[in-house]
Amino acid sequence: MLRIKNLKCSYGSIMAVQGVSFSVKQGELISIIGANGSGKSTLLLAISGLLTTWEGEIIFEGKNLKGMSPPDIVKKGICMVPEGRQIFSPLSVVDNLMMGAYTMYRKGKKKEAAQDIDMIMDMFPILRERAHQLAGTLSGGEQQMLAVGRALMSRPRLMVLDEPSMGLAPKMVEMIFGIIQKLRKDGVTILLVEQNARAALKISDRGYVLETGKIVLQGSAGELLVDDDVKRAYLGRDYGDFYDGRR
Ligand code: ATP
Repeated sequence: MLRIKNLKCSYGSIMAVQGVSFSVKQGELISIIGANGSGKSTLLLAISGLLTTWEGEIIFEGKNLKGMSPPDIVKKGICMVPEGRQIFSPLSVVDNLMMGAYTMYRKGKKKEAAQDIDMIMDMFPILRERAHQLAGTLSGGEQQMLAVGRALMSRPRLMVLDEPSMGLAPKMVEMIFGIIQKLRKDGVTILLVEQNARAALKISDRGYVLETGKIVLQGSAGELLVDDDVKRAYLGRDYGDFYDGRR
């Protein structure tokens, strides 16, 4: 579905992504894990058309996305949930969802858009309760649900999520990852970028490890979860094994 070949992204003289290649097949949930500054967000900005200074190939369903504008990329079926949510704070929850459906409104499909809002509120009942609350006054977890809901309004075939667990309490992280798993079961292909490597790999089919702009490791999520280098660098200590009950 998505094939990235030898992607290089730069900001002036800084090469943030240095020849990255990977693929996402239809129906897969793929994680890209990496530390701060490894180039994860840059990669997603290039895929969504928000960064144009890249070389290489980004092929989605057979078409190279080079030169395509962000709205055209959304129309093709890719939608990104950006890092930090970036919801429209002064607008209500329902207005934020409507903004996610602008392509439908432009085509006069108001009824379909209203049905989609209803479907998203069934998926996230808290958003129905808060429908007329200003988005900026929602909790972090609620804002993340709204950002996912807004992205779903464009009926994406590939959803790209940038650090959805950032700044959330463990219970909320569990909930958001549960939602991501459900979306995948419903047929949305997912590319997930996360620093929370353990939580991401636990729900993924495959993963890639990004270090200073290069993919240094790839494999099934199961393989990466038991890989010694991944464990040491990204998974931290497994306190389940560490604590043996002795004082
Ligand atoms: P984080 O997890 O902290 O968000 P990341 O893996 O998403 O990190 P990027 O944000 O893609 O990493 O940054 C990759 C590199 O590119 C970093 O060295 C960063 O300083 C640099 N960079 C990112 N954005 C810009 C910019 N607008 N101008 C210059 N350099 C940038």
